[in-house]
Amino acid sequence: MHVTALAGGTGAAKLLRGLTALPDVDLTVIGNTGDDTEVWGLHVCPDLDSVTYALAGLLDVERGWGRRDETFHCRDAMAALGEATWFSIGDRDAATHLVRTAALRRGEPLSRVTATIARRLGVASRILPMSDDPVRTIVDTPDGPLAFQEYFVREHARAKVRDVRYAGAADARPAPGVVEALVSADVIVLCPSNPMTSIGPILAVPGIVDALRSAPGFVVGVSPIVGDRAVSGPAGELMRARGVPVTVAGVAQLYAPWLAALVIDVRDREASARLRDLGVRAVVTETIMVNAAHERALARVAIEAARSA
Ligand code: GDP
Repeated sequence: MHVTALAGGTGAAKLLRGLTALPDVDLTVIGNTGDDTEVWGLHVCPDLDSVTYALAGLLDVERGWGRRDETFHCRDAMAALGEATWFSIGDRDAATHLVRTAALRRGEPLSRVTATIARRLGVASRILPMSDDPVRTIVDTPDGPLAFQEYFVREHARAKVRDVRYAGAADARPAPGVVEALVSADVIVLCPSNPMTSIGPILAVPGIVDALRSAPGFVVGVSPIVGDRAVSGPAGELMRARGVPVTVAGVAQLYAPWLAALVIDVRDREASARLRDLGVRAVVTETIMVNAAHERALARVAIEAARSA
């Protein structure tokens, strides 16, 4: 079964691991690059790397980002040289960014070097950036615009948010293989990722929503909102800033025109009728993933929703 997933970082990584543990799933991941950034002259793709490391079994699952068994000698040396170190890069992680940056400087597209890194790290699934063109998520605050990593990592998501936008999106094209992966999928999965800063930038690339609308496969999402808040991270604040209710119905509303089903937590079962009004089938289960068994179980529920459609 061909499964194509739209993915951010930490929430996505867990579900994607679950999907690859299922038999007969041939997985393609379309990853968010809206929170890419430059650190110490290196091109860093936090979401693509979280997914790559997760599927290679190399992710530091405690931290939720970067590689396990990591050391930070380079970061400490950079600090001693007076460089900013609020965005932490581990020594092993730095190798990924060095390989990527060198390839981009040679003129290789991001999609090609992303595939090279995934292959060399032993990932069997296909990982595609949403676009080879630069798209940057900007968070507008009362004190001015912040790049996403400035807002999230440097300012610890404490700034008041006025708006979220995706600079460059209007001129971006889907990376090679993205539209094909959507229209040829048996099932399209929207990972439990931040709707504003992980899925939003992917949908902002012209052509991707059209592909979702016309795709013959079953489109199923997993809600990153449980109860009236995000499981982790600033999704709630950012949805509120955009006037989107911080509920599973708010999530469904964002994807409703082309979403067939949304997997929601047992705590939100009362929202099923509201989802039905939006034309979205609610699939109710435990959605908090704290171990590999949960990841697999949730992935199976999402795939079964498609099979039983
Ligand atoms: P980021 O780029 O690292 O923020 O990664 P994502 O956007 O993929 O993940 C963040 C989102 O995942 C947040 O909105 C969380 O609410 C959601 N999330 C994280 N863990 C879980 C989980 O175990 N279950 C569900 N349902 N959502 C989760």
